[in-house]
Amino acid sequence: MSFDEQDELFMLEAIEQAKKCTPERERDPKVGAVLVKNGQIIAKSFRGQYPDAPGDHAEYNLFHKNLENRADARGATLYVTLEPCSDRSPEKLPVMSMLSHMESQGS
Ligand SMILES: [Zn+2]
Repeated sequence: MSFDEQDELFMLEAIEQAKKCTPERERDPKVGAVLVKNGQIIAKSFRGQYPDAPGDHAEYNLFHKNLENRADARGATLYVTLEPCSDRSPEKLPVMSMLSHMESQGS
């Protein structure tokens, strides 16, 4: 898999999303995420996009709040400015688990 000019444009958009973050604590990362299918951005988000849930991760917001149809995620490419989390506090689902669950559900 190679990284081309189009990937660079989508990654730059993910960085633009990340710039919108207002970290609730100084150590919290700014993270942006963009979901692309057939060369089009179908959803995007950033960490803390929704003020009522300031710690919600960019990918969580993207898939659970901003993507109109979850089925569209199948075969799409996710661009994220930080490696998706694989470990979270027990009541929250890590993004890597969410993605593999979606993959196995076919949606
Ligand atoms: Zn995460």
